[in-house]
Amino acid sequence: MDCLFCKIAAGQIPSNKVYEDDTVYAFRDIAPQAPVHVLVIPKEHISSLHAVTEEKAALLSHLFAVSREIAEKEGVAESGYRVISNVGEDAGQSVKHLHLHILGGKTLKWDN
Ligand code: 5GP
Ligand code: ZN
Repeated sequence: MDCLFCKIAAGQIPSNKVYEDDTVYAFRDIAPQAPVHVLVIPKEHISSLHAVTEEKAALLSHLFAVSREIAEKEGVAESGYRVISNVGEDAGQSVKHLHLHILGGKTLKWDN
């Protein structure tokens, strides 16, 4: 499949890796919106959070558990951070492979 994040997860396109296991990959966003801006993705291609059904409960739970560990490791667990997943056009989803943005390290605005 011609998917940017599938290729990043497979190591076919270089990225600044933060975490990896059998099912999840995390890397720094190429255009960071905050001092900490990490993308957490399933290695399996899932088009967005909206495509996640109950049968993926274990994978989704793991995705959030990894995000939590990354927040700890990046030093924003105490100061606070935001977890965002854009779904579809109005939300500005530009890559059609499910990803959680982990944002922190500054006071975040809610500018919509
Ligand atoms: P979305 O807009 O779909 O919610 O988020 C996609 C994110 O992927 C954006 O924040 C964008 O900066 C990031 N991004 C796009 N292409 C690349 C890339 O090739 N490498 C990395 N590390 N991040 C990317
Ligand atoms: Zn993909």
